[in-house]
Amino acid sequence: MKELLVSGVLLLVLSSAAIAAEGVFDGARWNVSTGNLSVSYIQHSPIGAHPLPDFLEPPPPFESLKKLHSQGLTAYEDYIAWGAVEREEGKWDWSQHDRMEKALHAAGLKYVVYDWVHFPPVWLREKGGWRTLMKCLEHRQETNYLSIFDPETIRWYDRFYKALAEHFGARIDGVYACILGPYGEGNYPLNVPDWVNIGHCHEGYWCADPYAVRAFREAMRARYHTIERLNSAWSSSYRSFSAVDYPEQIRNPLPAGQDTPHIAGASMKVGFVASADAFKTPGERRRWLDFIQWYHQAIIDFAGESIKTVLKYFPAEKVRTKPGGTAGGVNPIAWGTYSPGYAKMAAPYHIVLQPADCHGAYFGDKWLATAYKFYGVKLSTEPAGGLDRNTFVRRMFSDASCGASQLFTYEFEDHVPEIQKYIHLYTGASSETPVAILMPTTLYRLGADLAFTIKSAALLRDWTDYDVLDELLVQDGALDSYRTLIIIQGEYIEQEILSKISAWQKRGGRLIVCGGPVLNVEGKKWDFGSAEVLRPSDDAAETARAIAGVLCPDEKPDGVWTARRAGRTLLLNTSDHAVDVALRGRRVAVPPHEIVEVKSLPGATPSSLKRAGLR
Ligand SMILES: [Zn+2]
Repeated sequence: MKELLVSGVLLLVLSSAAIAAEGVFDGARWNVSTGNLSVSYIQHSPIGAHPLPDFLEPPPPFESLKKLHSQGLTAYEDYIAWGAVEREEGKWDWSQHDRMEKALHAAGLKYVVYDWVHFPPVWLREKGGWRTLMKCLEHRQETNYLSIFDPETIRWYDRFYKALAEHFGARIDGVYACILGPYGEGNYPLNVPDWVNIGHCHEGYWCADPYAVRAFREAMRARYHTIERLNSAWSSSYRSFSAVDYPEQIRNPLPAGQDTPHIAGASMKVGFVASADAFKTPGERRRWLDFIQWYHQAIIDFAGESIKTVLKYFPAEKVRTKPGGTAGGVNPIAWGTYSPGYAKMAAPYHIVLQPADCHGAYFGDKWLATAYKFYGVKLSTEPAGGLDRNTFVRRMFSDASCGASQLFTYEFEDHVPEIQKYIHLYTGASSETPVAILMPTTLYRLGADLAFTIKSAALLRDWTDYDVLDELLVQDGALDSYRTLIIIQGEYIEQEILSKISAWQKRGGRLIVCGGPVLNVEGKKWDFGSAEVLRPSDDAAETARAIAGVLCPDEKPDGVWTARRAGRTLLLNTSDHAVDVALRGRRVAVPPHEIVEVKSLPGATPSSLKRAGLR
C-alpha cells in the first residue's frame, strides 16, 4: 500500500513525463504494460500442451519487478485459464494467481488479468452435451474451442467471471473480456498448438455446429424477409430459409485425400481460400458477401456479449479486450479480424481496446485507428514482437499518429530508452489529415489480395499523412471529414458506398482513382464523375509517385514522415542519415530514426503538409 502511495505521488510530480533525478520513470499516465505471466502454468495444466501434475510457475523476483517499475512499467498481465484453475467441476484453485497478484502489487505494479475462457476445462470438454465446440466446415470436426454460436457459451463465461470477481474483487486492477482465437482475441480458431491442447485445428471456416447453421439462416431471413428475394439475390432456388446453406465453395467437406493441412505462415490453412476471381457472377459475389459479413459480425457480436458479461462484475474503467490485429497488413478474411466492426461495437461500453499491430505498418494501423477515432474508442497498442530499435521507434510514431493513449509490449526491457523518450507522444489525439485512402472493404471481403494498396500506401507515407477509411465508416458518414479520397484498388465496391462517394464529390470532395474501372457488386461500371484518374500500373512505387504527383506535386520525398495534430507537428526520420526539414522561416534537423516534435507556430508548418492541404 505504501508503495502504491509513493507511486501515486510520483504520478503527480512527473505528470509531464520527465525522468526524475534519481532515474525513476512513471509510465502510469500511459498505462505502460507488459504480459504473459503464468503461461507455463497453463501449458502444464490439464488443458495445456504439456500437462504435468503439481506444476507451478514462480512469480518474477521482487527486485526485477521493482526495476521494471522504476523504468516506467505500470502493469503486468497474468494469464488465467479457466481449465487450469477449475480442474474439477466446482473446485477452484487460484493459488498460482494469488502469488502473482501479491508479487506484482508488492513491487508497485498493477495486476491485470488476461483470461482464457474459450478453451473449456477437460471435465467440461469431455463430458459433452453441456457445451458446444467450434466445428470446421472443411472436415466437420470439432476443435477444443467453445462455440461462439451456442448461447450456453456466454453463460460459461459468466460463471467464470463471477468466480474470478468473487475471489479477487478489487485486487484486480484490469481485466480482459475473452473473445476467441488462439490467444482469446477477435479471431476464429487458428492452429497455435504450443500453449494448449488445441485439438483438431487449422485456418478455415468454423461454422459447422448446429447453432452456427441456425444463426446463419436466421440472419439471412432477417436480411431478405422472403425466400424469393434471397433466391433473386443469390440466383439460387431454395424453397425455404430452413434449407439455406453456406456458399458452395465452403459448404461441402473436403474430399478424401485433400484433408491434409499444409503449413502457411503461422497457421495451417486448408480448403477454400477466397479470391475476387473465385466468384464469377453477381449472385455468387452477393452470396459470399452475405456469408462473410455474417461470419465476421458473429464473432464481433460475441465479443460484445463477453464485454457485457465482464461489465456485470467489474467497472468499465478496468475492462479491456483484445480484438486481434493486422498481421501482414490486414489479416486474412477467414481469421475474422474485422477491426472497424470491433470499434463500432465497443464504442458504447467505454472500455479500452488493445489491437495487435504489424511492426508499425502504417496502412494497417490507420485502418483500425481511423475507425477508433471515428467511433470514439480508446486505443491501447500492442506491438507485435521482434522489433529492432528503429522499427520500435517507427511503431511509436505510428501509434502516436493513430491516437494511441496506452502502450503494451512483450519486450519492455528491450525498449526502455525508446519508451521513456517517446511515450509522452501517446496523447490520445490522432493526427489530423484531409487525405483518406479507401480501404476496399468489399474487395477485402471477396478475398482479394490487398498487398498492392498496402504497399503503395506505405510508399506514399513519405509524401503525406493519411487516414484509411473503411467502407463501414463511409457508410456511417465519415467522408465529410476529408477533402481528398484515394481509391487504389476498387474492382468491386458496394453501390451504397459508391453513391455516398458520388454525393460527397458533388459537395466538393476530391477523388483520385488509380487505374480503374470500379464496379459495383452487380458488375455495373461506376461513373467516377469528376475524379482524377491515374494511369493503371501494377508497380506500387510508380503508383505512390503518381498519387503524390497530383496531391503534392512540388514535394520531394526525403524519408521524413510528418503528422500534425493539436497545434504540433511530429517528424519521423525513417532514413539512415540526418535530414533538415524546411519549415517556413527555419530549418529543423531530424536525426536518423528519431522523432522530433515541433510546435506548429504560425508559418512554421512543413511545406509538405501545406501541399497536402493541411494549412
Ligand atoms: Zn477441420
